[in-house]
Amino acid sequence: MNQTADVVIIGGGIVGASVAFHLAERGCTDVLVLEREAEQGLGSTGKATGGVRAQFATAINIAMSRYSIDFFTRFEEATGQSCGYEPAGYLFVATSETHLDYLKRTRERQLAAGLTNVELVGAEEIARRVPVLRADDVVGGSFCGTDGFIAPLKVMRGFTAWAEERGACVWTETEVTGIEVEGGRVAGVETTRGRISTRVVVNASGAWAALTAGLAGVEIPVVPLRRQLVSVQPAAPLAAQGLPMVIDMSNGFHFRPEARDAAGTTPGVLLAWPDDAETPGFKLDFDPSFTKKIIQRARKRVPSLLAGATLNAERSRAGLYEMTPDHHAIIGESPGLKGLFLANGFSGHGVMHSPATGRLLAELILDGRASLLDVSALSPERFATGRLLAETSVL
Ligand SMILES: Cc1cc2nc3c(=O)[nH]c(=O)nc-3n(C[C@H](O)[C@H](O)[C@H](O)COP(=O)(O)OP(=O)(O)OC[C@H]3O[C@@H](n4cnc5c(N)ncnc54)[C@H](O)[C@@H]3O)c2cc1C
Repeated sequence: MNQTADVVIIGGGIVGASVAFHLAERGCTDVLVLEREAEQGLGSTGKATGGVRAQFATAINIAMSRYSIDFFTRFEEATGQSCGYEPAGYLFVATSETHLDYLKRTRERQLAAGLTNVELVGAEEIARRVPVLRADDVVGGSFCGTDGFIAPLKVMRGFTAWAEERGACVWTETEVTGIEVEGGRVAGVETTRGRISTRVVVNASGAWAALTAGLAGVEIPVVPLRRQLVSVQPAAPLAAQGLPMVIDMSNGFHFRPEARDAAGTTPGVLLAWPDDAETPGFKLDFDPSFTKKIIQRARKRVPSLLAGATLNAERSRAGLYEMTPDHHAIIGESPGLKGLFLANGFSGHGVMHSPATGRLLAELILDGRASLLDVSALSPERFATGRLLAETSVL
């Protein structure tokens, strides 16, 4: 069998799915998505919290989010399926003047980048919006009402189904084991289902991106870092409907109401916290000792929520962030190898940035340049030239 494809996408998570959708939207449908697992979404996409926010500190992350969140508002129109977008907001809560000053400065940058609906909110307003919060030490915060939640797997499936209906193919249980290079450009891929000729490969391999790039002899600085979430079931149903993502800036602890189930009830609350003690590695097991650490933080900020709450071990989980040295994505053609396109290193923001990423990749592949936005800040070359970005608003 001599299989060929105009574009081969390695990785069938939300990023690979978005690239396939955006290529198909532009009429490029001879696209093959290769996923080694038995189904899509078993990488980081299926583990994600589902948060979307534009409250970032750098112009490029704000721009990626603004496009993507707008896309989520019209996702159904674009794909025929719902993505579960809920504009419940992100509320950053400061308990020190230093953090409040940071939010004020960041808001100025957000305004300059065209994000005009971030409000500074006082302690009383915060207590009113989030009654479960211990707010006696809160000095203020910032809130953006178009931030909120989406359902990562629905987004991935919506993108995939639309692309498939137009001719793109997804092969599951197909691992890419080699990338062939001829004369300084991609010539094909070796897989567990045979060889595929192609002149364009998209690396959409999430936390495994450095291994995939390595198959072509290309080095990219993407490192896997475990992130864990703990699900709790409060004793009483949450009082506030539309509770936002709430971030305690003193230690990074944050929480969100879990997505409503089919019956419309809110099943519980997801607790998240970036554990500084975590070390890089492909660690996919949930570490029970993390529960104790996060509950300690949660008790300080939402004691009433935890009183009598039960742990939901089934919904608690571990997954991988795909970290780069400056916590920004890598988007562009590999400088060392023509035909290898990188959509990697989202550093924990790949779900929310998937629409912009897919569109940018389609433009780079089909037009040779990105027109949606100036993506040079995310170029793979920046690590060699030392033009790194500084994102201070990482969760
Ligand atoms: C606990 C947690 C919470 C998170 N919360 C959020 C959030 O709230 N908002 C947000 O925006 N992001 C969040 N993220 C990050 C987000 O999940 C990722 O950035 C995003 O899913 C990346 O998508 P992806 O398609 O690149 O990677 P993945 O979903 O991991 O997909 C990559 C796929 O590539 C496949 N693959 C790898 N190598 C090969 C190969 N050689 N051959 C074939 N297939 C291969 C893998 O099997 C995998 O399915 C969170 C992550 C975690 C772990």
